[in-house]
Amino acid sequence: MSQKKKIAILGSTGSIGTQTLEVVEANLDAFEVIVLTAQSNADLLIEQSIKFKPNTVVIGDESKYKKVEDALWKHDIKTYCGEDALVDIVQMQDIDIVLTALVGYAGLKPTISAINAGKNIALANKETLVVAGELITNLAKSKGVNIYPVDSEHSAIFQCLVGEFHNPIEKIYLTASGGPFRGKKRQDLLEITKVQALNHPNWEMGAKITIDSATMMNKGLEVIEAKWLFGLKSSQIDVIVHPQSIVHSLVQFTDGSIKAQMGLPDMKLPIQFALTYPNRLKTDFERFNFMDYPQLTFEQPDLKTFTNLALAYQAMEKGGNAACVINAANEVTVEAFLNDKIKFLDIADINAKTLQLASFVEKPTYEDFVMSNTEARQIAVDIVG
Ligand code: NAD
Ligand code: MG
Repeated sequence: MSQKKKIAILGSTGSIGTQTLEVVEANLDAFEVIVLTAQSNADLLIEQSIKFKPNTVVIGDESKYKKVEDALWKHDIKTYCGEDALVDIVQMQDIDIVLTALVGYAGLKPTISAINAGKNIALANKETLVVAGELITNLAKSKGVNIYPVDSEHSAIFQCLVGEFHNPIEKIYLTASGGPFRGKKRQDLLEITKVQALNHPNWEMGAKITIDSATMMNKGLEVIEAKWLFGLKSSQIDVIVHPQSIVHSLVQFTDGSIKAQMGLPDMKLPIQFALTYPNRLKTDFERFNFMDYPQLTFEQPDLKTFTNLALAYQAMEKGGNAACVINAANEVTVEAFLNDKIKFLDIADINAKTLQLASFVEKPTYEDFVMSNTEARQIAVDIVG
């Protein structure tokens, strides 16, 4: 690459954000950080900013603003705070690509703003596509904006499709590790603690996605994410449990041929590919050794125990605002579980109940999504009690 790619990282202090900065640091001749943002971890945001010298920094939590400003003005870094600043800053002229590594529904508004300004998106924040996939993909199309997947399964599909974009997809297989409770039945999960649920076998991630992996809601959200990224019908998306997390996902073409993308589980690879597509940059990441994995195994997901996955399919098939509703409910229930207010199995049960109770909107506008998110959150909060 002749010119450095100028990146805005939304959520730079999280799991994906910090790994993105590791990718940048290893390729300083290819990338330049223009914007960093975080919600509340001011100390890490300041440390990252002094190191990577972005033009502008945004801290979400307004009570942390003074600390950030005091630390960064002498480094000639502009500082802002609050949600509106995030929405404005992604439109900055210098930005080539916005990497959305913030968590949850909060990603929706800044992503729309970035697309409106014609910025390409490296999308980690899957919730944005779950909430408003049709709106986002139509907007991206109309603005000529590309959305590059960061999620490892979707990056795998995308990598399998390189050179095949004109060939129709028969179906895709999203692989799932199965999480820490693979093989368990409902009665085994009655007394699960958050410490157990936060202990993922293969990936180190933020708290919300780790709980989503334990309930398999993460795979449900990914099924919906895949529908919008690759323009698929529900019947074209299968989930297969693959505990080793080496095959990151597969595409089956209309001649029956299947392509898979493989590698050790390391998010830095999909992050880097989203930033460098169509090129690949040399890395010193640990290489896969077949002898360490003499068996790669595959199983059916257990939809009776992990009902969140079935719920996500149900919401996707219902369409309209249904996926927005289950996402909102799930944000509430995961937080309630992490705060010891509900039990593990309540997460999926309350998500399902919220979908039954929330108003259905068949063709939602942006304003409908905002209202639907608020309504579904309130329903879930009331059930949590
Ligand atoms: P995390 O909790 O580790 O980090 C979240 C980041 O977003 C932090 O920098 C935080 O300050 C910021 N943030 C949180 N709430 C915010 C808000 N309301 N407004 C603005 N910023 C906010 O999360 P993570 O694990 O890095 O995940 C980020 C996103 O990437 C999620 O959507 C997740 O599903 C997706 N993802 C993560 C992984 C992974 O390996 N961690 C893999 C695939 C996809
Ligand atoms: Mg994933």
